[in-house]
Amino acid sequence: MKAVIWQGTNKIGVETVPDPTLLLPTDAIVKISSTAICGSDLHLLDGRIPSMEKGDILGHEFMGEVVEVGRDVKKLKVGDRVVVPFNLACGVCDPCKRGFFSACDNSNPNHRMAEALYGGVSGGGLFGYSHIYGGYAGGQAQYVRVPFADVGPFKIESDLRDEQVLFLTDIFPTGYQAAEQCGIMAGRDVVAVFGAGPVGQFAARSAQMLGAAQVIVIDRVPERLKMAEAAGAMTINYEQEDVLTALREATGGRGPDHVIDAVGMEAHGHGPGALLDELQVKAKISFDRITALRWAIMSCAKGGTVSMPGVYGGLIDKLPMGAAFAKGLIFRMGQTHTHRYLGPLLSRIEAGEIDPSFVITHRATLDQAPELYKTFRDKHDGCIKVVLNPWG
Ligand code: NAD
Ligand code: ZN
Repeated sequence: MKAVIWQGTNKIGVETVPDPTLLLPTDAIVKISSTAICGSDLHLLDGRIPSMEKGDILGHEFMGEVVEVGRDVKKLKVGDRVVVPFNLACGVCDPCKRGFFSACDNSNPNHRMAEALYGGVSGGGLFGYSHIYGGYAGGQAQYVRVPFADVGPFKIESDLRDEQVLFLTDIFPTGYQAAEQCGIMAGRDVVAVFGAGPVGQFAARSAQMLGAAQVIVIDRVPERLKMAEAAGAMTINYEQEDVLTALREATGGRGPDHVIDAVGMEAHGHGPGALLDELQVKAKISFDRITALRWAIMSCAKGGTVSMPGVYGGLIDKLPMGAAFAKGLIFRMGQTHTHRYLGPLLSRIEAGEIDPSFVITHRATLDQAPELYKTFRDKHDGCIKVVLNPWG
């Protein structure tokens, strides 16, 4: 089959590789009909997440048709159309039973590899996301092996198009969880979203669905800000305005009641730039490039929530903890517990509350993936979200 392959830092290729096979009786094989490139894939592209190996198959946002099931799979059958959460979960360990699926104890055999980056605990397994996350082959390919097949894959029985349900795999639940964990008081609270990438777009729309009185989105890329405006958000271009002043002015001086950092450790706008980036990749830690998080903490109203879907690893220094402490802020963060949200968010799509395909700007074949990784990374050509057809 064809697959998108990590060939080294900043090197992506498309290669012909062996088809996946069932390895455990609880596995299924899915023939992929649509797959997307995620902002998280950019951390692999630039070598920020260690333990990628040449030849690894990328991709964790995918859906398709079940073509084979192991003998212990009870809930799926050949022919089912499924979306597959980006994280793997066993469904029976203590974190899974409590709904913390992304922190599953049993889906990541390699979590101890993460000593430097995560203090020895890297959470559950992820598709296509390095060996510290379990070394599972990803879904930017024609087929994928799906372990824990009775737990993750979610059947789509309505006639919604792939593009309307594909993002249930990651960015819609991720944006939604980020907004939900703010505890928005409907009709009153103002929510600021840092980062107008795909995750920020879904966080902004989710905050609106949860009743935010106003949503303010901060970025510097005009097309991304326009997309947020189209949904009714106010926007701030941080290259044109002083973010903290603009946020204070927009909120009668108190600051947004809750803030969402949908940027993560690659935040732009501070630090000596390329050299520092190179050093942090080498040292497998991350420091000082935390502009978005710093703005989030400094702007947030007293008693508010700092919700962080943006990815962090390693050690983060120079956070304004004094301000956070003085304001009594609440911090919520982490990998999304995708499994929780599949049913409820599908219902919202079916009810017409949201059509997630709004975020797609580029459609391409698997062969075009290497070029589109760069277009997406560099935000060229108005690129916000890329969907790949493995059979095109
Ligand atoms: P993206 O790279 O497309 O978007 C990031 C956006 O942040 C860009 O538009 C960029 O211009 C903007 N930005 C950079 N510095 C900024 C700053 N200082 N202030 C405001 N905006 C700034 O990525 P994405 O796909 O939207 O993902 C966003 C983050 O969410 C990434 O870190 C990604 O890894 C993470 N993510 C987390 C989960 C999870 O489970 N928690 C799931 C998916 C993605
Ligand atoms: Zn993703």
